[in-house]
Amino acid sequence: MSETETRVLTNFIRQIIDKDLAEGKHARIMTRFPPEPNGYLHIGHAKSIVLNFGIALDYKGACNLRFDDTNPHKENVEFVESIKQDVTWMGYEWKGLYFASDYFEQLYQFAEELILKGKAFVCDQTAEEIRDYRGTLTEPGRESPWRNRPVDENLDLFRRMRSGEFADGSRTLRAKIDMASPNVNMRDPVIYRIRHGVLHHQTGTEWCLYPMYDYTHPISDALEGITHSICTLEFEDHRPLYDWVLDNVSVPCHPQQIEFSRLNLQYTVMSKRRLTRLVDEGFVEGWDDPRMPTIAGLRRRGYTPEAIREFCQRIGVTKADNTVEMSSLEDCIRDDLNTRAPRRMAVLHPLKLVIENFPEERVDELVAPSHPKDESMGSRLVLLTREIYIDRDDFREEAPRKYKRLALNGEVRLRNAHVIHCHEAIKDSRGEIIELRCTYDSATLGAKPEGRKVAGVIHWVSAERAVVAEVRLYDRLFLQPAPGAGASELTDDLNPDSLRTLTHCMLEPSLAGAKPGEGFQFEREGYFCVDRDSTPERLVFNRTVTLRDTWAKIEPRD
Ligand code: ATP
Ligand code: MG
Repeated sequence: MSETETRVLTNFIRQIIDKDLAEGKHARIMTRFPPEPNGYLHIGHAKSIVLNFGIALDYKGACNLRFDDTNPHKENVEFVESIKQDVTWMGYEWKGLYFASDYFEQLYQFAEELILKGKAFVCDQTAEEIRDYRGTLTEPGRESPWRNRPVDENLDLFRRMRSGEFADGSRTLRAKIDMASPNVNMRDPVIYRIRHGVLHHQTGTEWCLYPMYDYTHPISDALEGITHSICTLEFEDHRPLYDWVLDNVSVPCHPQQIEFSRLNLQYTVMSKRRLTRLVDEGFVEGWDDPRMPTIAGLRRRGYTPEAIREFCQRIGVTKADNTVEMSSLEDCIRDDLNTRAPRRMAVLHPLKLVIENFPEERVDELVAPSHPKDESMGSRLVLLTREIYIDRDDFREEAPRKYKRLALNGEVRLRNAHVIHCHEAIKDSRGEIIELRCTYDSATLGAKPEGRKVAGVIHWVSAERAVVAEVRLYDRLFLQPAPGAGASELTDDLNPDSLRTLTHCMLEPSLAGAKPGEGFQFEREGYFCVDRDSTPERLVFNRTVTLRDTWAKIEPRD
């Protein structure tokens, strides 16, 4: 990552860290990124990654990757692997790679410590009774009848819970805090539950006793020496419990939990539950479907780590709830690809055009720069032949006012080549134009035509030398800015045109060897990248983004 790129605007979290450092509270800053491996990472996670790893980089500290794997029935190794791959692809290195399950034994010992201190008890209430006794936001809870069990009995029962003597749901271990607390999270929360018969992806069948997240997280943070435990706002009300746990067991340090607001993005969804549904019910082709807001989907769509990091910088970090416009994300990838994507010509809706005064066998090799502003990107040869393809959209029989493309009896410049004049449009029996007949002006290569103005420029490819490709035009996955909001069903808001597949696109020959992952600007069309389905025999391109925001205002291209 370049120095300039790691420039960061300050934010309230960095101000807290600056203050802590100034006061000598810490010698080295430690953060962590703690995903639950129950889905692929999405752009919201990217915000958290950039924040946590970015702070570690800037303060010359370190950031751990820790899997929060206390919910084994929803988690699996595929998700673990995808998360590691995505964090690496984003450009970050973790210091330690941990699983909360690495700490199961220590967590268990700390629970015994709580029991011995009279701060935890084994409760025989059912889940329903616990809920019933918990009270509400306005009413205090009631104490469990098991709350004052003697320490010895608690210890004995807890050990037998571990050894597998009791059925799921028959007993829990609860922290003994305060059933009258105005904060519901402090009303004797469950910290251990029994779960038989799950195959944990890390610990197998070793445990039938699983710690709850609110108990696991603070202790894991402390064991890793995390200084600032940064999480999203929904954990704000859990902070007193986070602190209570750390104050009541003998951990080496007391990390500070700081909350920030989650990223919400228009026209997509971010919850893993909803994304899982889209995948499982086949509304998309998988977690890395280019329409998904997942990091894997964005990568396959042609997004770069730089663009995603830039987006995360631009949106900033605050405590205010907000929803970011999809166009902000799209602007970031446009800006990035504008500077780095080589220009190429590709005709998505081919219409044959014959240049009648161009000899049949002749092939002109024309030099075309790969980037209009960056000479270091070099150039490539484009081949002009008698028969070429242009895009159907670039021809009209009658030119509307201010029209800058090709019209019957009009002229236009072929990008990187000459000016042509169209004198005939040949139609099939249904009246559809199937071929244009033109002539070219040989004096106009790199020169203005004599005595007249030709304003329009269109792209084209040689018909004989073109490479045929499939092009997948992706658009937003949902039609509504807040999909599934209010009374509407999530899947009713899906955009039926989020994927259009064009199977016979014509590309300039220099694209023949393009490899999966490579990105280009198809001039006048947008940014495209080679999909992983692509083979040398059958190229497949994904549209990353159009050149302009077509959602802001539907306007004709120039
Ligand atoms: P989801 O609701 O999508 O399942 P989660 O918060 O349960 O998300 P985790 O895997 O637990 O997902 O998240 C790992 C980290 O990423 C957490 O610190 C979490 O706060 C953060 N995170 C998750 N979603 C967002 C988001 N939309 N914006 C910012 N940070 C997020
Ligand atoms: Mg979570």
